[in-house]
Amino acid sequence: MTTTFSPGFARGLLDLDAVAIVRQLQAQGHETYFVGGCVRDLLLRRRPKDFDVATDARPEELKRIFGRRCRIIGRRFRLAHVHVGSQIYEIATFRGLPDDQEMAEDDSGFVVRANTFGTAFEDAKSRDFTVNGLFYDPIGDRIIDHVGGTADVERRLLRTIGEADKRLREDPVRLLRAIKFASRLGFGIDQPILEAASATAPLIATCPAARVAEEIYRMSESGHARAAWIWMRELGVLDALLPEITTSIGDGPTLPEPILAWLGELDRLTRAHGTLPREATFALVAWPFILRELDRRDDAPKLAWGRFALDGVRELAVRLSVPIRHRYTLAGMADVLKRLRQAPPRRPSPNHLRTYGVPLALTAQRMTFLQTGEGREAYDLWAAELERLGLWAAPFEPRQDDDDGDERGQGQRRPPRGARPTPAPILPVEPIHDERVLDELVEEKLRVAADASNPRRRRRRGPRRGNRTTDEP
Ligand code: ATP
Ligand code: MG
Repeated sequence: MTTTFSPGFARGLLDLDAVAIVRQLQAQGHETYFVGGCVRDLLLRRRPKDFDVATDARPEELKRIFGRRCRIIGRRFRLAHVHVGSQIYEIATFRGLPDDQEMAEDDSGFVVRANTFGTAFEDAKSRDFTVNGLFYDPIGDRIIDHVGGTADVERRLLRTIGEADKRLREDPVRLLRAIKFASRLGFGIDQPILEAASATAPLIATCPAARVAEEIYRMSESGHARAAWIWMRELGVLDALLPEITTSIGDGPTLPEPILAWLGELDRLTRAHGTLPREATFALVAWPFILRELDRRDDAPKLAWGRFALDGVRELAVRLSVPIRHRYTLAGMADVLKRLRQAPPRRPSPNHLRTYGVPLALTAQRMTFLQTGEGREAYDLWAAELERLGLWAAPFEPRQDDDDGDERGQGQRRPPRGARPTPAPILPVEPIHDERVLDELVEEKLRVAADASNPRRRRRRGPRRGNRTTDEP
């Protein structure tokens, strides 16, 4: 049953450029609404991070109406991107109902019938959860609810549109999305989804790795990683996607307490400083599992921790297409943490302080002592040395954008030229948000490692004394 009502949202919560787009399309006779996450967030009195528009205008008509501002993207399902200033608004033509024979994924992974357009009603029905299936007309201030989403927002419940079992089989990544929304919004998950979870979880592994990884990153960087990982464990998703973790921590119903505490600390960091760069999220999420393995080994003090971490995540990283750069960030951090965790703490050399793993390792060290009270001394020693040598650069830069999954939010954006990051004395870290710098550092590290394992090159680099080189026995 369709219901409409006037929610009376505060104008300040709306994006006026997005409202202008809706007005323009409506003025040309097109049925047009805000749709999806933004309507849900408005009902929750949260400021939406972007405003998606759905309309009955076809892509070519959108191109005609918005002219040079408009780019049509996507092959399977064409969408319009309308540029206003530095913002991009996504306008989608109403989709038709999914149909079992002709399923295809659009660029954002939304499973649809390839370029089959439909009515507003069908569009709403093709969306994933009732709370994501609402339309809002900002001109008439009207919510149009074809799917019972308003009631579910009120009772804070994630419910699939249509039969859970069928909708999850149609696109298993929806189970990850359910976990993402439940943890982020503090919602419950409807019983039929919970019941379908064990059959769905193994199917997620058959979905495109990039989509799966995207959802795991998103839930881990949301400031609600702890809740998300608890859900993933409970619903068998962790077991299906990251079996090496189950091997390490066993089968229990939830995650071990130190890991939960660590994820809680990561959430506090994220909420206080903003979303971290992806490679930092990867390294910090992987770390407690690596440490757990190290703690089990008697030879841990003799191991190269960076190499150990790289080996530990190799398989899962390949499986989930984790970028190499993310893995080397983990390795760099692990190497520095080995030094930082030495007892008693030793003063670092300037060379150690210039290693690219230092910023993140100090962040991790700080998380450790905030959580367990251990390791403060080493942290203070390193921080003091950094400051003394003038290496006290910018804090670990959070990503500027809040979302990273679609065209608008790829990776980190650099701060505007000349902008000085606010000093954060508790995070004395040089920025590694500049990807080029990071790549150079990774290359440098690889070169040094290659040199170290090649005695001939090593000898050549050594200082000459007569006919002998210093590193010969
Ligand atoms: P966020 O606040 O994270 O952006 P969102 O609800 O806007 O949340 P998006 O991933 O941006 O989520 O997707 C936008 C909308 O597209 C969703 O609200 C939902 O209606 C629809 N959608 C996205 N992915 C799917 C999917 N896999 N199946 C069905 N509908 C989907
Ligand atoms: Mg969105």
